[in-house]
Amino acid sequence: MTPDTHLHIKNVSKRFGNVDALRDVDLKVERGSFVCLLGPSGCGKTTLLRIIAGFETATNGSLILDGKDISKQPPHKRGFGMVFQSLALFPHMSVARNIGYGLKLRGVKGAAQRDRVEELLEVIQLPHIADRPVSALSGGQRQRVAIARALAIQPPLFLLDEPLSALDAKLRDNMQIELRQLQQKFGVTTILVTHDQHEAMMLADELVVLKDGALRQSAPPSQVYNAPADSFVADFLGAANLIDVGKITGGTVELFGTSVKSEAPHKEGDQMLAAVRAEHVALTPAATAGAKPVGAISFMRDLGPATEFVVTIQGKELRVRCPSANAQGLDIGAQVALTFDAEQVSLFKAS
Ligand code: ATP
Repeated sequence: MTPDTHLHIKNVSKRFGNVDALRDVDLKVERGSFVCLLGPSGCGKTTLLRIIAGFETATNGSLILDGKDISKQPPHKRGFGMVFQSLALFPHMSVARNIGYGLKLRGVKGAAQRDRVEELLEVIQLPHIADRPVSALSGGQRQRVAIARALAIQPPLFLLDEPLSALDAKLRDNMQIELRQLQQKFGVTTILVTHDQHEAMMLADELVVLKDGALRQSAPPSQVYNAPADSFVADFLGAANLIDVGKITGGTVELFGTSVKSEAPHKEGDQMLAAVRAEHVALTPAATAGAKPVGAISFMRDLGPATEFVVTIQGKELRVRCPSANAQGLDIGAQVALTFDAEQVSLFKAS
Protein backbone atom coordinates (compact mmCIF):
# COMPACT_ATOMS: atom_id res chain seq x y z
CA MET A 1 0.00 0.00 0.00
CA THR A 2 1.36 3.45 -0.83
CA PRO A 3 1.65 5.70 2.22
CA ASP A 4 -1.08 8.31 2.50
CA THR A 5 0.62 11.43 3.88
CA HIS A 6 -1.78 13.52 5.94
CA LEU A 7 0.70 16.08 7.27
CA HIS A 8 4.11 16.84 5.86
CA ILE A 9 6.35 18.74 8.28
CA LYS A 10 8.67 20.05 5.63
CA ASN A 11 12.21 21.03 6.59
CA VAL A 12 11.05 22.95 9.66
CA SER A 13 13.59 24.97 11.65
CA LYS A 14 12.97 27.28 14.58
CA ARG A 15 15.37 29.76 16.17
CA PHE A 16 14.70 31.56 19.46
CA GLY A 17 17.41 34.23 19.67
CA ASN A 18 20.58 32.17 19.42
CA VAL A 19 18.90 28.84 20.32
CA ASP A 20 18.21 26.39 17.51
CA ALA A 21 15.07 24.76 18.92
CA LEU A 22 14.45 22.82 15.69
CA ARG A 23 16.92 22.01 12.93
CA ASP A 24 15.55 21.10 9.53
CA VAL A 25 12.98 18.57 10.76
CA ASP A 26 11.35 16.71 7.89
CA LEU A 27 8.61 14.26 8.74
CA LYS A 28 5.66 12.74 6.90
CA VAL A 29 2.73 11.81 9.15
CA GLU A 30 0.52 9.10 7.71
CA ARG A 31 -3.26 9.51 7.79
CA GLY A 32 -4.83 7.85 10.84
CA SER A 33 -1.48 7.10 12.46
CA PHE A 34 -0.40 7.74 16.04
CA VAL A 35 2.93 9.56 16.11
CA CYS A 36 4.89 10.11 19.32
CA LEU A 37 7.51 12.85 19.52
CA LEU A 38 10.05 11.60 22.03
CA GLY A 39 13.22 13.11 23.40
CA PRO A 40 14.91 14.59 26.46
CA SER A 41 13.96 17.95 27.96
CA GLY A 42 14.77 20.82 25.61
CA CYS A 43 14.98 18.70 22.43
CA GLY A 44 12.25 20.74 20.73
CA LYS A 45 9.19 18.44 21.04
CA THR A 46 6.84 21.10 22.40
CA THR A 47 8.09 23.69 19.94
CA LEU A 48 7.32 21.33 17.06
CA LEU A 49 3.83 20.61 18.41
CA ARG A 50 3.17 24.35 18.90
CA ILE A 51 4.25 25.02 15.32
CA ILE A 52 1.85 22.30 14.10
CA ALA A 53 -0.94 23.84 16.24
CA GLY A 54 -0.17 27.32 14.90
CA PHE A 55 0.86 28.91 18.22
CA GLU A 56 4.40 29.35 16.96
CA THR A 57 5.73 30.12 13.46
CA ALA A 58 8.64 28.22 11.95
CA THR A 59 11.74 30.25 11.09
CA ASN A 60 12.12 28.10 7.98
CA GLY A 61 10.11 25.32 6.36
CA SER A 62 6.41 24.69 5.97
CA LEU A 63 3.46 22.55 7.04
CA ILE A 64 1.54 20.79 4.31
CA LEU A 65 -1.85 19.33 5.32
CA ASP A 66 -3.59 17.27 2.66
CA GLY A 67 -1.33 18.85 0.06
CA LYS A 68 -2.16 22.41 1.17
CA ASP A 69 0.32 24.78 2.80
CA ILE A 70 -1.19 25.77 6.18
CA SER A 71 1.94 27.45 7.60
CA LYS A 72 0.30 30.87 7.71
CA GLN A 73 -3.12 29.76 9.01
CA PRO A 74 -3.98 30.88 12.57
CA PRO A 75 -4.75 28.12 15.11
CA HIS A 76 -8.55 28.49 15.02
CA LYS A 77 -8.62 28.08 11.23
CA ARG A 78 -6.65 24.84 11.53
CA GLY A 79 -9.27 23.49 13.95
CA PHE A 80 -7.06 20.83 15.50
CA GLY A 81 -8.10 19.02 18.68
CA MET A 82 -5.69 19.66 21.53
CA VAL A 83 -5.01 18.29 24.99
CA PHE A 84 -2.25 19.71 27.13
CA GLN A 85 -0.96 18.69 30.52
CA SER A 86 -3.00 21.44 32.17
CA LEU A 87 -6.17 20.13 30.39
CA ALA A 88 -7.70 23.65 30.45
CA LEU A 89 -11.18 22.39 31.32
CA PHE A 90 -13.77 24.75 32.84
CA PRO A 91 -13.95 23.47 36.44
CA HIS A 92 -17.42 24.76 37.31
CA MET A 93 -19.04 23.68 34.06
CA SER A 94 -20.58 20.24 33.82
CA VAL A 95 -18.88 17.36 32.01
CA ALA A 96 -21.43 17.58 29.18
CA ARG A 97 -20.99 21.34 28.74
CA ASN A 98 -17.22 20.99 28.69
CA ILE A 99 -17.44 18.36 25.97
CA GLY A 100 -19.92 20.48 24.01
CA TYR A 101 -17.87 23.67 24.31
CA GLY A 102 -15.95 23.36 21.04
CA LEU A 103 -19.13 22.38 19.20
CA LYS A 104 -20.90 25.48 20.53
CA LEU A 105 -18.03 27.69 19.32
CA ARG A 106 -18.44 26.15 15.88
CA GLY A 107 -22.18 26.85 15.84
CA VAL A 108 -23.27 23.24 16.41
CA LYS A 109 -26.40 23.67 18.53
CA GLY A 110 -29.51 21.92 19.84
CA ALA A 111 -30.04 18.25 19.06
CA ALA A 112 -26.91 17.96 16.89
CA GLN A 113 -24.76 19.15 19.81
CA ARG A 114 -26.63 16.96 22.32
CA ASP A 115 -26.31 13.83 20.17
CA ARG A 116 -22.58 14.32 19.65
CA VAL A 117 -21.97 14.96 23.36
CA GLU A 118 -23.98 11.85 24.27
CA GLU A 119 -22.03 9.77 21.79
CA LEU A 120 -18.73 10.94 23.32
CA LEU A 121 -19.95 10.40 26.88
CA GLU A 122 -20.66 6.79 25.88
CA VAL A 123 -17.25 6.40 24.31
CA ILE A 124 -15.45 7.66 27.42
CA GLN A 125 -17.85 5.66 29.61
CA LEU A 126 -19.01 8.60 31.70
CA PRO A 127 -22.70 9.09 30.74
CA HIS A 128 -23.73 8.70 34.41
CA ILE A 129 -21.82 11.83 35.47
CA ALA A 130 -22.68 14.09 32.54
CA ASP A 131 -24.12 16.77 34.84
CA ARG A 132 -21.39 16.75 37.44
CA PRO A 133 -19.00 19.73 37.52
CA VAL A 134 -15.50 18.90 36.31
CA SER A 135 -14.11 20.06 39.69
CA ALA A 136 -15.78 17.00 41.27
CA LEU A 137 -14.02 14.45 39.02
CA SER A 138 -10.96 12.27 39.57
CA GLY A 139 -7.75 12.88 37.59
CA GLY A 140 -8.49 10.06 35.14
CA GLN A 141 -12.06 11.21 34.58
CA ARG A 142 -10.87 14.76 33.83
CA GLN A 143 -8.40 13.34 31.38
CA ARG A 144 -11.16 11.54 29.54
CA VAL A 145 -13.31 14.67 29.43
CA ALA A 146 -10.44 16.68 27.95
CA ILE A 147 -9.90 14.01 25.30
CA ALA A 148 -13.63 13.85 24.52
CA ARG A 149 -13.82 17.65 24.23
CA ALA A 150 -10.91 17.68 21.78
CA LEU A 151 -12.40 14.86 19.68
CA ALA A 152 -15.99 16.21 19.71
CA ILE A 153 -15.21 18.65 16.92
CA GLN A 154 -13.95 15.84 14.66
CA PRO A 155 -10.58 17.53 14.23
CA PRO A 156 -8.35 16.72 11.27
CA LEU A 157 -5.42 16.38 13.68
CA PHE A 158 -5.35 15.50 17.37
CA LEU A 159 -2.40 17.04 19.26
CA LEU A 160 -1.39 16.11 22.80
CA ASP A 161 1.43 17.52 24.91
CA GLU A 162 2.39 15.28 27.86
CA PRO A 163 -1.32 14.73 28.62
CA LEU A 164 -0.78 11.90 31.10
CA SER A 165 2.26 13.12 33.00
CA ALA A 166 0.27 14.35 36.03
CA LEU A 167 -1.34 10.94 36.62
CA ASP A 168 -0.02 8.25 38.96
CA ALA A 169 1.66 5.23 37.38
CA LYS A 170 -1.31 2.83 37.45
CA LEU A 171 -3.82 5.33 36.11
CA ARG A 172 -1.36 6.45 33.50
CA ASP A 173 -0.98 2.89 32.32
CA ASN A 174 -4.76 2.48 31.98
CA MET A 175 -5.16 5.84 30.26
CA GLN A 176 -2.50 4.93 27.71
CA ILE A 177 -4.57 1.92 26.69
CA GLU A 178 -7.78 3.98 26.63
CA LEU A 179 -6.18 6.74 24.61
CA ARG A 180 -4.88 4.30 22.05
CA GLN A 181 -8.30 2.61 21.80
CA LEU A 182 -10.07 5.96 21.36
CA GLN A 183 -7.61 7.06 18.70
CA GLN A 184 -8.19 3.83 16.78
CA LYS A 185 -11.95 4.09 17.15
CA PHE A 186 -11.97 7.61 15.69
CA GLY A 187 -9.14 6.92 13.23
CA VAL A 188 -7.85 10.43 13.88
CA THR A 189 -4.28 11.33 12.95
CA THR A 190 -2.62 11.94 16.30
CA ILE A 191 0.66 13.54 17.40
CA LEU A 192 1.65 13.21 21.05
CA VAL A 193 4.63 14.70 22.85
CA THR A 194 6.24 12.72 25.65
CA HIS A 195 9.62 12.34 27.31
CA ASP A 196 8.64 8.88 28.57
CA GLN A 197 9.97 6.13 26.32
CA HIS A 198 7.59 3.47 27.69
CA GLU A 199 4.61 5.67 26.96
CA ALA A 200 5.88 6.33 23.44
CA MET A 201 6.50 2.62 22.80
CA MET A 202 3.03 1.79 24.09
CA LEU A 203 1.14 4.34 21.99
CA ALA A 204 3.00 4.99 18.77
CA ASP A 205 2.67 3.61 15.29
CA GLU A 206 5.60 5.85 14.48
CA LEU A 207 8.16 6.91 17.04
CA VAL A 208 10.04 10.12 16.30
CA VAL A 209 13.18 10.63 18.38
CA LEU A 210 14.54 14.17 18.64
CA LYS A 211 17.75 15.47 20.15
CA ASP A 212 18.92 19.10 20.24
CA GLY A 213 16.22 20.03 17.73
CA ALA A 214 17.23 17.41 15.17
CA LEU A 215 15.34 14.29 14.14
CA ARG A 216 17.47 11.26 15.00
CA GLN A 217 15.12 8.44 14.00
CA SER A 218 11.54 8.00 12.83
CA ALA A 219 10.26 4.43 12.65
CA PRO A 220 7.81 1.99 14.26
CA PRO A 221 8.67 1.39 17.96
CA SER A 222 9.96 -2.15 17.45
CA GLN A 223 12.36 -0.92 14.79
CA VAL A 224 13.61 1.95 16.95
CA TYR A 225 14.06 -0.51 19.80
CA ASN A 226 15.75 -3.29 17.84
CA ALA A 227 17.66 -1.23 15.28
CA PRO A 228 18.42 2.16 16.86
CA ALA A 229 19.83 4.64 14.33
CA ASP A 230 22.62 5.82 16.63
CA SER A 231 24.04 5.45 20.12
CA PHE A 232 21.88 8.29 21.46
CA VAL A 233 18.67 6.53 20.39
CA ALA A 234 19.92 3.21 21.78
CA ASP A 235 20.70 4.85 25.10
CA PHE A 236 17.56 6.97 25.31
CA LEU A 237 15.27 4.03 24.63
CA GLY A 238 16.56 2.60 27.87
CA ALA A 239 17.96 -0.68 29.10
CA ALA A 240 20.73 -0.72 26.49
CA ASN A 241 24.28 -1.13 27.66
CA LEU A 242 26.63 1.10 25.69
CA ILE A 243 30.08 -0.41 25.72
CA ASP A 244 33.30 1.01 24.35
CA VAL A 245 34.69 -1.88 22.30
CA GLY A 246 37.80 -0.12 20.96
CA LYS A 247 39.04 -0.17 17.39
CA ILE A 248 37.40 -2.20 14.67
CA THR A 249 39.67 -4.62 12.82
CA GLY A 250 38.68 -6.74 9.84
CA GLY A 251 35.12 -5.34 10.11
CA THR A 252 34.59 -6.91 13.54
CA VAL A 253 34.90 -6.04 17.20
CA GLU A 254 35.10 -8.32 20.20
CA LEU A 255 32.47 -7.99 22.89
CA PHE A 256 33.17 -10.06 26.02
CA GLY A 257 34.55 -12.97 24.02
CA THR A 258 32.02 -12.87 21.16
CA SER A 259 32.99 -11.55 17.75
CA VAL A 260 30.49 -9.02 16.34
CA LYS A 261 30.48 -7.95 12.70
CA SER A 262 29.68 -4.30 12.00
CA GLU A 263 26.92 -3.27 9.65
CA ALA A 264 27.36 0.38 10.63
CA PRO A 265 29.35 2.59 8.25
CA HIS A 266 32.95 2.57 9.46
CA LYS A 267 36.58 2.63 8.44
CA GLU A 268 39.16 0.13 9.58
CA GLY A 269 40.55 1.31 12.95
CA ASP A 270 37.52 3.45 13.90
CA GLN A 271 36.65 3.52 17.60
CA MET A 272 33.30 1.74 18.04
CA LEU A 273 30.51 1.54 20.61
CA ALA A 274 28.33 -1.53 21.06
CA ALA A 275 24.74 -1.37 22.31
CA VAL A 276 23.29 -4.52 23.80
CA ARG A 277 20.00 -4.74 25.65
CA ALA A 278 19.86 -6.06 29.19
CA GLU A 279 17.36 -8.77 28.17
CA HIS A 280 19.53 -9.94 25.28
CA VAL A 281 22.35 -11.07 27.54
CA ALA A 282 22.42 -14.42 29.35
CA LEU A 283 24.67 -15.37 32.25
CA THR A 284 26.68 -18.58 32.18
CA PRO A 285 28.41 -19.93 35.30
CA ALA A 286 32.18 -19.42 35.07
CA ALA A 287 32.84 -23.18 35.15
CA THR A 288 31.21 -23.60 31.73
CA ALA A 289 32.58 -20.39 30.19
CA GLY A 290 35.50 -21.97 28.32
CA ALA A 291 37.89 -19.28 27.06
CA LYS A 292 35.43 -16.42 27.63
CA PRO A 293 36.24 -13.60 30.03
CA VAL A 294 34.59 -13.92 33.41
CA GLY A 295 33.05 -11.22 35.61
CA ALA A 296 31.25 -11.05 38.94
CA ILE A 297 27.64 -10.30 39.79
CA SER A 298 27.80 -7.04 41.77
CA PHE A 299 24.06 -6.34 42.11
CA MET A 300 20.95 -8.45 41.86
CA ARG A 301 17.27 -7.70 42.28
CA ASP A 302 14.28 -10.01 41.87
CA LEU A 303 11.53 -7.99 40.16
CA GLY A 304 9.03 -10.87 40.12
CA PRO A 305 8.88 -12.26 36.58
CA ALA A 306 12.39 -10.98 35.78
CA THR A 307 15.61 -10.65 37.72
CA GLU A 308 17.97 -7.78 37.08
CA PHE A 309 21.74 -7.98 37.54
CA VAL A 310 24.75 -5.76 37.28
CA VAL A 311 27.83 -7.71 36.20
CA THR A 312 31.26 -6.16 36.57
CA ILE A 313 33.45 -7.52 33.81
CA GLN A 314 36.72 -6.26 32.30
CA GLY A 315 36.35 -3.04 34.32
CA LYS A 316 32.87 -2.36 32.89
CA GLU A 317 29.43 -2.61 34.45
CA LEU A 318 26.76 -4.32 32.41
CA ARG A 319 23.05 -4.60 33.12
CA VAL A 320 21.48 -7.98 32.51
CA ARG A 321 17.86 -8.98 32.84
CA CYS A 322 16.61 -12.54 32.60
CA PRO A 323 13.42 -14.45 33.45
CA SER A 324 13.54 -15.19 37.18
CA ALA A 325 13.21 -18.91 36.37
CA ASN A 326 16.68 -18.73 34.78
CA ALA A 327 18.23 -16.95 37.76
CA GLN A 328 18.33 -20.06 39.98
CA GLY A 329 21.68 -20.56 41.66
CA LEU A 330 22.97 -17.08 40.77
CA ASP A 331 23.94 -14.75 43.59
CA ILE A 332 25.94 -11.63 44.33
CA GLY A 333 29.64 -12.39 43.95
CA ALA A 334 29.10 -15.36 41.58
CA GLN A 335 31.57 -15.60 38.70
CA VAL A 336 29.84 -15.57 35.32
CA ALA A 337 30.49 -15.21 31.59
CA LEU A 338 28.15 -13.36 29.27
CA THR A 339 26.49 -14.90 26.24
CA PHE A 340 24.44 -13.13 23.62
CA ASP A 341 23.48 -13.36 20.00
CA ALA A 342 25.81 -11.17 17.92
CA GLU A 343 22.81 -10.28 15.72
CA GLN A 344 21.19 -8.49 18.64
CA VAL A 345 24.14 -6.18 19.17
CA SER A 346 24.13 -2.78 17.42
CA LEU A 347 27.47 -1.18 16.64
CA PHE A 348 28.04 2.54 16.15
CA LYS A 349 31.04 4.64 15.37
CA ALA A 350 32.00 6.48 18.58
CA SER A 351 31.56 10.21 18.02
P1 ATP B 1 10.49 19.75 27.72
O1 ATP B 1 10.37 18.25 27.66
O2 ATP B 1 11.37 20.22 28.84
O3 ATP B 1 9.18 20.46 27.66
P2 ATP B 1 10.94 20.16 24.87
O4 ATP B 1 11.63 19.03 24.20
O5 ATP B 1 9.48 20.26 24.70
O6 ATP B 1 11.34 20.20 26.40
P3 ATP B 1 11.04 22.84 23.87
O7 ATP B 1 10.15 23.39 24.94
O8 ATP B 1 10.46 22.69 22.52
O9 ATP B 1 11.68 21.47 24.33
O10 ATP B 1 12.33 23.78 23.80
C1 ATP B 1 13.36 23.59 22.83
C2 ATP B 1 14.44 24.67 23.04
O11 ATP B 1 13.91 25.94 22.69
C3 ATP B 1 14.89 24.80 24.49
O12 ATP B 1 16.27 25.11 24.47
C4 ATP B 1 14.09 25.97 25.02
O13 ATP B 1 14.77 26.63 26.05
C5 ATP B 1 13.95 26.84 23.77
N1 ATP B 1 12.69 27.63 23.77
C6 ATP B 1 11.43 27.11 23.70
N2 ATP B 1 10.51 28.10 23.68
C7 ATP B 1 11.21 29.26 23.73
C8 ATP B 1 10.84 30.67 23.74
N3 ATP B 1 9.56 31.04 23.66
N4 ATP B 1 11.83 31.56 23.80
C9 ATP B 1 13.12 31.20 23.87
N5 ATP B 1 13.55 29.92 23.86
C10 ATP B 1 12.61 28.97 23.79
